This record gives sequence, C-alpha cells and structure tokens, in this order.
Amino acid sequence: RPTTDRAKLDAKALWRKDKDHFIHPFTDFSVFHDQGCDLITDSDGIYVEDAKGNRFIDGIAGLWCVNVGHGRAEIGQAMADQATRMAYFSTFNNLSNAPAAELAAKLAELAPEHLNHVFYSCGGSAANDATIRLVHYYFNRLGKPEKKRILSRNNAYHGTTYLAATLTGIASNNWDFDTLDHLVTHLSEANCYRRPEGMSETEYCDHLVAEFEETIERIGAENIAAFIAEPIMGAGGVLVAPRGYHARMQAVCRANNILFIADEVVTGFGRLGHFFASEAVFETRPDIINCAKGLSSGYAPLGATLISDEIYEVLGTPQRKGGVLSTGFTYSGHPVSCAAALKNIEIIEREGICKNVREVGPYLEEQLRTLSHHTTVGDVRGSHFMMCLENVADKATKELLPVEARVGDRIAFEAQKRGLIIRPVGHLNIVSPPLIWTRETVDRVVAILDEALTAATASLREDGYL
Ligand code: PLP
Repeated sequence: RPTTDRAKLDAKALWRKDKDHFIHPFTDFSVFHDQGCDLITDSDGIYVEDAKGNRFIDGIAGLWCVNVGHGRAEIGQAMADQATRMAYFSTFNNLSNAPAAELAAKLAELAPEHLNHVFYSCGGSAANDATIRLVHYYFNRLGKPEKKRILSRNNAYHGTTYLAATLTGIASNNWDFDTLDHLVTHLSEANCYRRPEGMSETEYCDHLVAEFEETIERIGAENIAAFIAEPIMGAGGVLVAPRGYHARMQAVCRANNILFIADEVVTGFGRLGHFFASEAVFETRPDIINCAKGLSSGYAPLGATLISDEIYEVLGTPQRKGGVLSTGFTYSGHPVSCAAALKNIEIIEREGICKNVREVGPYLEEQLRTLSHHTTVGDVRGSHFMMCLENVADKATKELLPVEARVGDRIAFEAQKRGLIIRPVGHLNIVSPPLIWTRETVDRVVAILDEALTAATASLREDGYL
C-alpha cells in the first residue's frame, strides 16, 4: 500500500498553498487566517496520520462516512480497475454502465422491499435536492401542482445546495445566506434532553405529533408535498426522537397524502447496525430513502435516492411526446463511484460489519455514559456508532457555557493531543467512528476522553468559565 514519503513531503509549502487558495467548507476564518489547516496525509483501518507523522484514532469516520475504515486496498483496486477499463461515459439517453446497473439492483435488494428504483447523485445534498425536484415533478404529473411545501425540522441537517440548505434547520448554518423559504416550513426538532419541563417522553411525542397535525391544518395538506427527517438527527446534535415518533409522523403523512422521506445519509450503511435504519430500527416504510456517505464509505463521491414502486410508476410514465425526465447529473451513476460502493457493500456483508455495530454499539453507548460524572457533560446520547456529548455550564438548569468558552473545541483539542479525533460542533462533541471499532478500541477511546474532559474542565476553570 502506498504511504507518504515524509522526507519528500513539503508540508510547510502545502500548508501555505492550502491557506492561500482553498476555501474550506464550514471553516471559522478567525482561526483559519491565523492557523491554516492540519494536513491529513495517511490512513489505515481506524487510524489517520498527519503530515508530521502523528497518528490518531479516527473518532468521526472522516465525516460520518468511512464506515468500513481506511486504507481498504480492495476498494482502491476496484476503482482503479474500473477507471482504467472505462472511467466515464454518459448515463443519459439510454446509456448505462455495469457498476451503476449492478449497484442499483443491489440497493433495491438491501432497501425495504417497496423501494426498487434508484436515482444517483454525487452526495447527500445533491440527493436531497434532486429528491425534492422529483417530488414536485411527481405531484405536478398527478395534477396536484399546488402540493409544493416540504416540512422539515429545526436543527435538521440536509446539506448545503440552495434547496438542501433551506431544508436544513440549523439556524447558524444559514447566517447571512439566503434560503428558499416559500418551499420549506420547519417543525420543532425532537429533543428529549431539552423537552419542556415535566413532560414524559410519551407526552412529548404526543406534543410533537400534535404540532405536525396543527401545521398541516394551517398550511393545508393540499399544499404540502413531503415531510423529510433524519431517523436520528446528526449534525443538529445526535437527537434520538421519543419512542414511536417516526412511525406516528409517517401515519400522519399517510392520512394526509404527504410523502415521507427518510434522510439516511448518516444512519444508512451500518451506523445503527443495519443497511437502512428506517424499517429495521424505526418501523417506518418511507416513500423515499436518501443515502450517501457510507454508501461508498467515502472512497468516492456518491449519493442515491431510493424511490418506491408507486412513485416510480408516475416518474416512469412518459410525460408527453418528446418529453424526457430532464433531471440528473453528468456524474449520475459514475462507474468509478459505483464500483467503490459495490466493493464497500461486499466488505460490509463479508465482514459482518452491521453485526459488529449491533454488538459493539451498545458497549460504546454504555462506556461513553461513564463520562457523565464530568462537570460539563450534561447529556450522553445517541445510538450504536452515532453518539454525542452535550456540554453545559450547569447540569441542573442545562444552561450552556458562553460561545466564547469554545467548550467543544477545547475537549476536541485535548482529545487530539492524546491521539483521538472527535468532532466539535459548538458545545457538542460528536463520536461517529468507523464501524470496525472493537470493544478494545472503545476502552482506549473512553480512557482518552476521560483525560481530555479532565484537562478541558481544568482549562475552563482557569479561564473563569466554571
Ligand atoms: N443529509 C445528512 C443527514 C447529512 O448528515 C449530510 C452531511 O453531513 C447531508 C445530507 C449532506 O451530504 P453531503 O455533504 O454529501 O452533501
């Protein structure tokens, strides 16, 4: 396997080129202008290495995506074989390629049984964006052009194309950006930790479903096309909804002829112990499931919209003479990405990676909960390999530390110093590892986090925040 020759790597020059020319996504320029970026140059299994040769346990699977772990030579080989055989040709106008056809059939086999049709895109945002266009087209074709509004949720994350950013409900993500507000209405997120005082989980679920019904009443079901939700909200804080929430939301959708879209960009491909969580974990039958990330384990960009037979019947009917389904991308069904995804799925199946998540996941949850005694840890939540610590100033009142305390950054920094990368998101720290962590990895990670939390708490005290 190739590795970086550090003697030849001019890390300082690369750092400079990056800082001068690469506009990074989601980057705080107050830090970037000063510090630039750390270069990650190598990877292997659960580890990544930086330009200086420092080795870290990857606690975030790249960005919730490297599900089978790093450095899988056989995925690289499958991509190289496909790229040299036939790297690219159009999938428009009755042309296709072998990996795209194979993968579509494989996804239909893995998905809930009524989802048998695949529309490819290049990532999660594009999958969500393409989905909404297709949903609008679907209702137009059914003679219901007024059915346009999409209901999403506060704190949802669905990506950053114009439309996906509008679906996204994390307010700070859209600071000073525009959104297409006439298309989307946001409901409350399902946040059990911060639910109204004195409400049981069941009452909270009733409350959220009632809000949904009232919103439909207000807007009119005849104007609403779909409800979109992540089975567990990811970037918005790894929020696990109250028991039964998704099934009840779907029942309301059914009763009002509103499509139910599951954004499984994070929860898909094993993170919760199944290829898809919607049916296996949450007992829902979405009309559409979107996936990306773990679909190719991040080895190549790829997204997919899995569409029901019922919807396909409408999309697949010629609209008019000379009319085509005029949507899609140059790279829809890219052969190299699809070859990567096929090999990735083969590995997940062959190595029993979903089973590993079902076995090690509850242990990860249990061990992370042992960190609750730390002063700032208000909540440890999530499921299986999708976990989060919420940090607070006061556990009783759940009051947050001031933004400038940068509590999430401090903890992530202390963890990184000790050889573990976790993700800070404001006052949260997210743990979303490759799905090949073992119990032994969990023990090492929790020991590092224990030390990191102690060190971060001491520095917060020193700076007068606690
Ligand atoms: N949907 C969810 C649930 C996500 O978490 C993300 C990315 O984190 C996206 C969509 C957007 O995917 P991408 O960044 O590949 O466009």
